[in-house]
Amino acid sequence: MMNYHDYIASRSWRQNPARLAELEAAGFRCRICNDDGQANALEVHHRTYANLGRELPSDLTTLCRSCHRVATDHLRRLRYAGHAIAHADIQQPFECPVPLVDPTFKENI
Ligand SMILES: [Zn+2]
Repeated sequence: MMNYHDYIASRSWRQNPARLAELEAAGFRCRICNDDGQANALEVHHRTYANLGRELPSDLTTLCRSCHRVATDHLRRLRYAGHAIAHADIQQPFECPVPLVDPTFKENI
């Protein structure tokens, strides 16, 4: 089975009719900043993964790479905003930390 990253890199995603329809509907411009793909390559953002592999044009939004990164980061923050932080189970390297330098050491010049 093809995973997400293989799919996004695949010809079937690049030639997906819904992806091409959304690019055309957006006038081949970022829907946030109106860049035409010169400053940042255009990408097609999934508003939902409900139909991954058989997307509808309404599942997709044309964004430049820069706006896509911001949108993805924003959505990730929203998704995890209410999550409790799991206790980090980090083992301390030393029971009694030792100083990084030996204060009694005298360099022999
Ligand atoms: Zn943009």
